[in-house]
Amino acid sequence: MNVYDGQRIASMLRGRGYIQTDDYTDADIIILNTCAVRAKATDKVFSALGRMRTEKKPDAIMGIVGCVARESGADAFRRVPELNFVLGPQSYHKLPEILDNPDTRLFNIDLGGLEKFDAMPQMETSPLIAYIPIQEGCNHCCTYCIVPYTRGREISRPIDSVIHDVVHAANTGAREICFLGQNVNGYKYTAPDGLSYRLSDLIRAAAQQDAIKRIRFTSSYPTEMTDDLIEMFRTEQKLLPFLNLPIQSGSLNVLTKMNRPYSLNLYIDIVDKLKSARPDIQISSDFIVGFPGETDDDFEQTLDIVRRVKYINSFSFKYSPRPHTAAALMPNQIPEKIKSERLYKLDALLNEIQREFNESCVNKTLSCLYEGPDKTGKYAIYRTPYMQPCVVKIAPQIAPQIAHIKITDANKASLRGDIQN
Ligand code: SAH
Repeated sequence: MNVYDGQRIASMLRGRGYIQTDDYTDADIIILNTCAVRAKATDKVFSALGRMRTEKKPDAIMGIVGCVARESGADAFRRVPELNFVLGPQSYHKLPEILDNPDTRLFNIDLGGLEKFDAMPQMETSPLIAYIPIQEGCNHCCTYCIVPYTRGREISRPIDSVIHDVVHAANTGAREICFLGQNVNGYKYTAPDGLSYRLSDLIRAAAQQDAIKRIRFTSSYPTEMTDDLIEMFRTEQKLLPFLNLPIQSGSLNVLTKMNRPYSLNLYIDIVDKLKSARPDIQISSDFIVGFPGETDDDFEQTLDIVRRVKYINSFSFKYSPRPHTAAALMPNQIPEKIKSERLYKLDALLNEIQREFNESCVNKTLSCLYEGPDKTGKYAIYRTPYMQPCVVKIAPQIAPQIAHIKITDANKASLRGDIQN
């Protein structure tokens, strides 16, 4: 979501004649697009601002947009008096106001909903992967999560606007559509004529675009994997055989305290249904270790579910207490040392399974999407249908957008392969 927000902001600025620089000491405008989901992310914003306030050009304007703006509110101006603007995740379309009046201060952390999507100019060309937000906010209110506070309650975009964006992206260079939302599979829009639309309708519409070869969506909530959506994995071959379906914990006890009221059986049932719809599907998850009150036994149950589902490409985090959340006030907060030990164990298991899966891809030929040059600039990086990075010995300048790649080598983090004709 933040990548998308950043692309929209950059495109708006290019339209006003700005050019991008990698060196903030040379910039006329500095915008930090921020994430507040863990304390570390927020801390990084303020330490970066601490550096930038002294090193930036004296008349450069500087500000923050996104969830840290919403989290810290006007207090951000007190902490960093050099800030010119503080704009929440739903008000960054107001940026032009500060560009027009750089001597003022701009503050807006309202949860206005969908205004930003239409207020920002369309991007002139689409990246190969077009991120298309379809809903914003979340109604689940997991007790650890700051997102309902920073991004507000769920609101779905009108289907016409979403399809307009899909067609525009397809016509201006996109080969993959990634539908976005904090609770993306909760998408529900009722049109003025009374007809209701869900994510499955959007997937079907995107698949009709010839230029679009791959479709995916993120982030999903387990119990909103409705049968119509699962069925898409059977019927729409463009939908990638890969799904991020965060379970967070394998302990019912912890899930209940997290306010994620689903049983493990229900979760496993959903995974089984997905597998019967698309036998080659792979699942990834997000995990939180060290949630308040998590016992050794609870944690072992998380390891059990990892072994059972055999997750690939997952994200794992130590629980981080956040303002505006219920879990921050719960008793039995877990000491940092135990959190670290548990994270280490979980990561070791996830890595082992990931390596096994990557190795199982060797000798297979996968249809992959070009991503960009590798660090040396000499080779091309592709993404497999499971979003594994794959390094190919071909000059990035001549790399095809979509290629059939025979996988020759694999390790925990990435694959190597050769393009097949
Ligand atoms: N559905 C949201 C989730 C983003 S947060 C979205 O797509 O915007 C991504 C992951 O961060 C969550 O799935 C969770 O595993 C983790 N997370 C959220 N709050 C956290 C906290 N307080 N401490 C540690 N990890 C957290």
